[in-house]
Amino acid sequence: MKRGAYKARAIILNSVDYSESDCILTFYTKEYGKMSGIAKGARRSRRRFVANIDPLCNSTLLFFHNGKSELVRVDDATLIDGFVMLKTDIERYSIGCYMLELASEMTREGHVLPDVYDLLRDFLGLLDTSDVMDSEADDALLRSFEIKLLSYLGYLPHLNGCVECSEPIVGTVGEVSDTVGTATLFFSSERGGAVCAPCGNAIGGLGVGGGAGWNSGQPFDLFSTADGRGSGGLQPVSTGTVKWLSTAARFDSMKIKRLKTSSVFLKEGERLLGDFIRHQIGRELKTKRFMYKLRGTATST
Ligand SMILES: [Zn+2]
Repeated sequence: MKRGAYKARAIILNSVDYSESDCILTFYTKEYGKMSGIAKGARRSRRRFVANIDPLCNSTLLFFHNGKSELVRVDDATLIDGFVMLKTDIERYSIGCYMLELASEMTREGHVLPDVYDLLRDFLGLLDTSDVMDSEADDALLRSFEIKLLSYLGYLPHLNGCVECSEPIVGTVGEVSDTVGTATLFFSSERGGAVCAPCGNAIGGLGVGGGAGWNSGQPFDLFSTADGRGSGGLQPVSTGTVKWLSTAARFDSMKIKRLKTSSVFLKEGERLLGDFIRHQIGRELKTKRFMYKLRGTATST
């Protein structure tokens, strides 16, 4: 980036106090990707920035880049959307914070992906304008956000065919084809996608189902890395869930609420994507623990 003044639309991802008067910001811009900047005097005088540089804001930023430092100097911020409604509801707020942390953790500075800015803006907007508190609708938003983010970043798991033998996955969106012990499809984060039954059985997938899992009727630990998986790191999954995720990855964000879903797809999708994302990042995000704690669905913290 050349020395000079710039203007960009940005979703504020994080803000930390730097000194008595300054803040360090991380933000995702449409034009330049993820960036960090210092907002001088932001803590001492709120006049210039008001709350326009707080996390969960979409703002137009004016900043100066000196051509050397990775840290730009943020000089001004004008609010485009403060997502005010979602900030009045602690559960929605926690979902928004998780979206920010996930996007921040999975992106790097210098890699410009305008789709990631659009995705954050659209999904925070959807969260902000949802009129009813509905945990299934929130789950559908979360899974759609995760799979679309993975897709834009080039990390989309292989969902249209078996990662081992390339045999196409046969089935339609909406189909729940599997029951305990008769799984016809598996998923492996290590292998990067869906695994057909013959390949899964060859790897060792028939060992699955002994512990608590999505189809065992027992509660499971969302943060465990092992339960419900077979010796080959395989999780049984419905064909319908794999098809649903594959469709959600391509679905228009603003129409995502029209994508039909079911509690089975959401539950399975939660496990598959949770495991897959943890595999990519190497740890659990703290905002995820916070989000599940609020929603009362975590079995351990
Ligand atoms: Zn196969």
